[in-house]
Amino acid sequence: MNIILLGPPGAGKGTQARRLVEERAMVQLSTGDMLREARTSGTEMGRIVAEVMDAGNLVTDEIVIGLIREKLTEGGAAGGYIFDGFPRTLAQADALGNLLSELGETLDAVIEMRVDDDALVERITARSTCADCGEVYNDITKPIPADGTCSKCGGTDFSRRADDNEDSLRTRLMAYYKQTSPLIGYYHAKGDLKSVDGLGEIDEVADRIAGCLDG
Ligand code: AMP
Repeated sequence: MNIILLGPPGAGKGTQARRLVEERAMVQLSTGDMLREARTSGTEMGRIVAEVMDAGNLVTDEIVIGLIREKLTEGGAAGGYIFDGFPRTLAQADALGNLLSELGETLDAVIEMRVDDDALVERITARSTCADCGEVYNDITKPIPADGTCSKCGGTDFSRRADDNEDSLRTRLMAYYKQTSPLIGYYHAKGDLKSVDGLGEIDEVADRIAGCLDG
């Protein structure tokens, strides 16, 4: 099963994708994670990517489609792929459709995670990530354990993303509404769209997503 998690920054796409990886042996393809890796490469491309990301703008379609093409042609996802943060533009959505059909694969569901803007700002400004395993914490709803170690991997190094500040977030939200939200209509018209309420406990949201996938 190949699915897309669609939603604004802070909707919980990454958190839910990690759950699906654990529970269904799916493979998470997060273009945000791939780009964060690319920015540390020391190349000119990495420097440009870092600048664009920190400002909260979208990286070019060419770059992200290239990253996804590379991963898909490597193969090896028996349980299917979860596209997290991709596609973000109509051109990326078309490219993904073409890539999947070239590989003889299908897109089985697009899950839109709905969260209102106030909650997004609250979530993002309180977010931190384990530097070792990528587990996501929130100062209010899911604080780092009192002994300072990650509950998943025991790591002790936590970081906040450079773009998780109010200025970048405003730009990221605008990019979402201008460039990504048209995908809701696009996938609705194709008959692939399912929407879930992204507010609530992580388990509750996971149950709603499971209901879409198994229902
Ligand atoms: P994310 O981790 O999904 O929130 O992505 C972080 C940042 O990476 C975004 O704000 C963009 O600058 C960039 N990015 C991630 N995925 C894409 C994409 N599919 N298209 C363009 N830019 C992306």
